[in-house]
Amino acid sequence: MTETRDTVILGSGCAGLTAAIYTARASLNPLVLEGHEPGGQLSMTTLVENFPGWPEGIQGPELIDNMKKQAARFGATFQLAHLHSVDLNIHPFKLHTSAGEISARTLIVASGASARWLGIPSEQALIGHGVSSCATCDGFFFRGKEIAVVGGGDSAMEEALFLTRFASKVTLLHRRSQFRASKIMLERAIAHPNIELRGNTIIEEVLGVDEKEVKGVRLRDVVTGTEDVLPISGLFLGIGHEPNATMFKGQIDLDNDGYIRTTGNVMTTLDGKIVPGVFACGDVQDRRYRQAITAAGSGCMAALEAEKFLEEHAH
Ligand code: NAP
Repeated sequence: MTETRDTVILGSGCAGLTAAIYTARASLNPLVLEGHEPGGQLSMTTLVENFPGWPEGIQGPELIDNMKKQAARFGATFQLAHLHSVDLNIHPFKLHTSAGEISARTLIVASGASARWLGIPSEQALIGHGVSSCATCDGFFFRGKEIAVVGGGDSAMEEALFLTRFASKVTLLHRRSQFRASKIMLERAIAHPNIELRGNTIIEEVLGVDEKEVKGVRLRDVVTGTEDVLPISGLFLGIGHEPNATMFKGQIDLDNDGYIRTTGNVMTTLDGKIVPGVFACGDVQDRRYRQAITAAGSGCMAALEAEKFLEEHAH
């Protein structure tokens, strides 16, 4: 027989683990499905300097590990599994996971958003060693250095502008000659004396794999075919994020880019009407702030709502 849990949490990043701490402390015995990227985006970053309470900063993986221990201390359990499909039409909800079927009275979706990467091996090898997808997290480490940002949308412009606070020069690399960023953001980037825009350019290789730190990028001009090396100390990806919510399509409302729509902060909807017992928190429903602390905050809200739902629908 399938076990029915009071609360199942999808995702083990900052939002999911905060939801786990709160629901565990409320004796809901939550089960956390750790997902494809256990620990979420924080587990891929280095020093986190803006999470309140850590005046000297804390390593992202350590912060996540602490949250996990904190949740476990109150009785949260963890499973290295991910969701294949879900049926929200019946209550308790039926979850088909890589570890079998699970039944849940409340579901907290904290499956996050995954940064898009170029996918080339040298880039993957240097994540956390000069390659980053988060300017707010890692920009500080590049004070006085020359760096590059990839992308042609608003995220790339925003990252490039933000990074001029630290870097001595930011080269913005985009694969086409047309930028899709909004006019105002593009104009700001063009006008900035420390930003150089380079269109029609793709990255063939990130240099520095053997040294374990970014030394430069080998570039190719897609029009002329010529290659050159740009010496840089950091490479920031600004090519967008993909919310991990496709498995909910048709069962809860997603926006045009696939983020979960929420009302009342963390309530999910279907055709605009609240889906009782299903809550979403963190980056899977937040395209705007995407910070560890905001994810944690919404994880807390989702947990409190789940608790309230269970109280009102005593089983
Ligand atoms: P986006 O608009 O989808 O832009 C992604 C950019 O990355 C595009 O220029 C795309 O190139 C490029 N790209 C994608 N995959 C690539 C790859 N494999 N290799 C090289 N380049 C690649 O994403 P976004 O910039 O994150 O913006 C998402 C949404 O959030 C937008 O609606 C945006 O307006 C909004 N946003 C707003 C602000 C703001 O107003 N302050 C800030 C951030 C984001 P192509 O152009 O060639 O496709």
